Amino acid sequence: MSKNKSSESVKVVVRCRPLNRKEESNGPVGGILQMDLRLGQVVLRNPRAPPSEPQKTFTFDAVYDANSKQRDLYDESVRPLIDSVLAGFNGTIFAYGQTGTGKTYTMQGAWMDPEKRGVIPNAFDHIFTHISRSQSDKQYLVRASYLEIYREEVRDLLDPNHANARALDLRESPETGVYVRDLTSCVCKSVKEIEEVMNVGNQARAVGATDMNEHSSRSHALFLITVECSQPGPDGRKHIRVGRLNLVDLAGSERQAKTGVRGERLKEAAKINLSLSALGNVISALADGRSGHVPYRDSKLTRLLQDSLGGNARTVMVATLGPAPQHYDETLTTLRYANRAKNIQNQPRVNEDPKDALLREFQREIARLRAQLNHRQGRSKHKKEDGDGEGWERDGDEDTEGDEEVEKEAQEYVKQEEQRLEREKEAIREDQFMLAEEKQRLLGEKERMMGDLRKEQEATEQLTAKYKAMESKLLVGGKNIMDHTNEQQKMLEIKRQEIAEQSRTEREMQQQMLVQDEETLELRETFTSLQQEVEAKTKKLKKLYAKLQCIKTEIQDVNDEHVRSRQELEQTQNELTRELKFKYLIIENFIPPEEKNKIMNRLTFDPEEDQWKFQPLVPAERSFSQMKKRPASAVGYKRPISQYARVAIAMGAHSRYRAENIMFLELDMTPPTTASLDRSSEAELNRSPSLDNSPTKDRARRVRKSRSWCQAPKTITTSSSNMSLAACHTATPAAAQ
Ligand code: ADP
Ligand code: MG
Repeated sequence: MSKNKSSESVKVVVRCRPLNRKEESNGPVGGILQMDLRLGQVVLRNPRAPPSEPQKTFTFDAVYDANSKQRDLYDESVRPLIDSVLAGFNGTIFAYGQTGTGKTYTMQGAWMDPEKRGVIPNAFDHIFTHISRSQSDKQYLVRASYLEIYREEVRDLLDPNHANARALDLRESPETGVYVRDLTSCVCKSVKEIEEVMNVGNQARAVGATDMNEHSSRSHALFLITVECSQPGPDGRKHIRVGRLNLVDLAGSERQAKTGVRGERLKEAAKINLSLSALGNVISALADGRSGHVPYRDSKLTRLLQDSLGGNARTVMVATLGPAPQHYDETLTTLRYANRAKNIQNQPRVNEDPKDALLREFQREIARLRAQLNHRQGRSKHKKEDGDGEGWERDGDEDTEGDEEVEKEAQEYVKQEEQRLEREKEAIREDQFMLAEEKQRLLGEKERMMGDLRKEQEATEQLTAKYKAMESKLLVGGKNIMDHTNEQQKMLEIKRQEIAEQSRTEREMQQQMLVQDEETLELRETFTSLQQEVEAKTKKLKKLYAKLQCIKTEIQDVNDEHVRSRQELEQTQNELTRELKFKYLIIENFIPPEEKNKIMNRLTFDPEEDQWKFQPLVPAERSFSQMKKRPASAVGYKRPISQYARVAIAMGAHSRYRAENIMFLELDMTPPTTASLDRSSEAELNRSPSLDNSPTKDRARRVRKSRSWCQAPKTITTSSSNMSLAACHTATPAAAQ
């Protein structure tokens, strides 16, 4: 991909977790990772290689060792990204690494411990603190969604019916890119509310964990936050900026052989590995920059991250590592992935005034409700002033205090009106000169007027409630949320951010200097003697030779890796082929060919959803015309019915054929005949005691049985023939009932 002005690379940071208890108990082997925090470098030692083998060095935007704090990672590497989301960019943070290396710890952490809160809770605080401190001419709308990708199916974690909900479809639009159709999104007004949303989603995942054993780490989880901000521009009109933030906790990138999984688990792992290897392929294709085709469509995960990788987004990848020597291979793979991802170029841009901004819809709806309310209140006021000619109009942007006053006034007016009507009613009742009929009519009229007044008041109240509910969802800068931090804390926060910023720029400069040093070293060299030149060049040769060796081992490693992943894919393929053969076997042996053909003819492949689908039996436009007319004789019944049957229904069923009047009679079996036994010789019988089960005997039994039916007593035959006749008559009504 060509670098252009607005493009910037994916930020990659690496984090190593401390040795856990089990690893510590394995002995004082020490870690295989060394981290240079100032330079942003990781040095990986191969525990199996001889000490002479050069170690592998990788450089990243930042590295965090086992002692790193959650807060450090957030302030240095995540805060700038959230800031740009608040400014209207798309942003993505995803954690990638082997199972148990701290992806979930980094993304979520321990919520209760302020020191251990991960990226997600810190981002919540950050977003709402920013809104509370922004200017009051800004309006915000914050929405959250939570989904997981489990076995290549997208599931909504906020759907109350999560367990039975069907998988959601992915769609693409030029405005928003790839999105999930029908995904629940909740408007959140505070940190508490958005945490609640997260909890609800996590519980849906937790249910899976008990049902399906360790489900949580076997699915990819995406928490999506959309922040829409409206602000008056220099042209005086309100402009909306929409920032979308994806917080992604991927499933572990473990190897199947290592986890020793089989059957269902293996298929699950294959699906996880499929999406992760698809992610790897996408990263490789993008980093390579030469291949025109990027295989985003290979998995749901890569499609959802399409914008984040090589598209309109700013992206931070946190690669998590474990320090234990037994995981050397996985650690190296993760580092390679991360190293490749550094080369991905994104083209982030501010999403300004998109057509589908929900905030715009909210503003329109609020304005409409307000206009309706104004109209109603204006009408009552107009009535009150009894047509003194002055129109009553309000500017749409008056504040709520004015609203409350007007509301009070309106209530006052209704009360006065009611009292007036009451008084008039009283006067009519007490008027002795009026005719009773006239009195009744006037009283009725007043009653109706009062009813109208009440109805109108109710409608206004409903409208007001709706208006207030809508308005409360919009957060106004510095108004809806109170910022409880005091000045000192604020200063502290700012200082901490400054320090983070400084250490970031320092690291960048160090890295740049290192690169420049290498380049300029040879230019500056001047030699005074031939001997000196030989020495210098030998030194350089040695250095370059070491580099060459490094690259050679690198190539060997990559080849090994390639072979390994190929073996894994082959294993998965074998497993799936076996499954397919099994399904074929069932289809071939148990489904009649004509049924199979019928089904096959109805199947079509939907490339958009990457699924086979059944065509409906009756085309949608025809089904209505076919279904709509029922025959006249069927009206009121389940199916068309004869005149006779209708009469029979009206008369009631014949008592003779009610279920309780039908007796169950054991068939009188004739005593066993010995005819077939007589035919077989006794010698044969003695020789084979298993003759009882022989086909001959079986046949004899069958003959005997059928004869017993033929020999049924005469009375039963007649009654059964009667019954069948009568049944013919009554069958239809009985069935119709
Ligand atoms: P993953 O999500 O990658 O499978 P987890 O986040 O669940 O792994 O981490 C596994 C364990 O390691 C957890 O008990 C977690 O508390 C611990 N852990 C991970 N990273 C760190 C860290 N940086 N500091 C302290 N403990 C950590
Ligand atoms: Mg996890």
